[in-house]
Amino acid sequence: MRKLILSTGNKNKVKEIRDILKDLPIEVLSKDEIGLVDFDVVEDGVTLEENSLKKARELSRLVNYMVMADDSGIFVDSLGGEPGVYSARYGGEDGNDDLNNLTLLKNLKGKDRTASFQSVIALITEDKREYTVKGICKGRVLEEPKGDNGFGYDPLFVPDGFQKTFAELDGDIKNSISHRRRAIDGLREKLIEILGEKDEGTGN
Ligand code: IMP
Repeated sequence: MRKLILSTGNKNKVKEIRDILKDLPIEVLSKDEIGLVDFDVVEDGVTLEENSLKKARELSRLVNYMVMADDSGIFVDSLGGEPGVYSARYGGEDGNDDLNNLTLLKNLKGKDRTASFQSVIALITEDKREYTVKGICKGRVLEEPKGDNGFGYDPLFVPDGFQKTFAELDGDIKNSISHRRRAIDGLREKLIEILGEKDEGTGN
């Protein structure tokens, strides 16, 4: 069976991706599961595409399997797309969720609060073909945090069509509409295409 190696060691992400791809004839393994516990890449790109591709390319140099890497962030329209690719360290280099949220609230005072979470997944095949897919979840940023679930900007973000923040919504509901879910759905479509090509080529 073909293998897909994930550049992340985050157990929640690994589980989510594995679940959504479980009926495909692909073995999904995290970098940690193939012994690359120390694999880490400096995310110095200015777009999610650049960062996810950089991570996927570096992983693809180390293995002969399919690989994927993701990068996500929250983009606020009135801030010109900030925090965007800098979401994890918006409040300072140590990547503290509370400081990130406070910084966002401060910068948004008096401004329009329309925003979207975005996630890009880069996929590189065994023969080094590169693809990216993007998932977007539109919504708005509240004036104060609400809810205890989730992580990051979840307490501030209300997705379109809902009255509750990502941190108030049940995890299963968030995971069914999130940017990451939509990107993984896109990855799934891409993988189905790639698996089909291979079958056509080999006559299997
Ligand atoms: P990552 O690329 O998935 O690690 O996300 C980078 C940063 O974006 C995180 O550290 C969070 O600050 C923010 N972020 C990404 N996805 C989410 C989410 O689903 N909820 C809240 N914050 C998120």
